[in-house]
Amino acid sequence: MKVISYTQLVIKENGKQIQKGMNFAIQKTYSVVLMSTQKNALYNDHILEDGVIEYEGHDVPVNLNPQKKLVDQSLLTPSGIPTENGKFFQAALDYKHGVKEPSQIQVYRKLRKGIWVDMGFYDLIDAYEKNDQKRKVFKFLLKPKIDLNQDDQEYLDMLHNRQIPGEVQKEVYERDRGKCRICGSSDNLHFDHILPFSKGGSSKVASNIQLLCARHNLKKGAKFI
Ligand SMILES: [Zn+2]
Repeated sequence: MKVISYTQLVIKENGKQIQKGMNFAIQKTYSVVLMSTQKNALYNDHILEDGVIEYEGHDVPVNLNPQKKLVDQSLLTPSGIPTENGKFFQAALDYKHGVKEPSQIQVYRKLRKGIWVDMGFYDLIDAYEKNDQKRKVFKFLLKPKIDLNQDDQEYLDMLHNRQIPGEVQKEVYERDRGKCRICGSSDNLHFDHILPFSKGGSSKVASNIQLLCARHNLKKGAKFI
């Protein structure tokens, strides 16, 4: 799981300047969602125990309702066209009802202005309404996708790193000043468990996570296999 600049994100997404949180079918074979790491973020996204993301749907646009945090989220626009919520919701239902394969969702998590974590691909497996105090919001369940083509180390890193809470990623990035802890490089950074997850190391505390460049991440990984 790499730390990338916004420019790298755009290049990876074939030049698409992704700005909105939810982008259904923005690419031929997949959708893209953006997440925040802030504790008091605009949307209340959660990572559940097994790395599944509970992603919150999006509010009606401000131009339709300035009090958007007080009104129900919507599946349709006023003219009856599916909103992004509506498109993701339908795709989740199609999967649940066995009509379609799960939608592929590429997730990026914002660490700070211009810096993102590439969280990789997820399957959209469920969607439901939830009461959020006084209004109705949508929730989408994104399950980490297992890519059997990845080598074991990369796969394990990905699986474990997906369980690092956003605020921990942010804290580690700031503590290590956006650089590899061993060589100081700021290219190709990855989150690394100091005590490996497989040996009981925690993903939930910044003291067990560090930033390493690809070269040092790989070197370290080899040691533990
Ligand atoms: Zn390094």
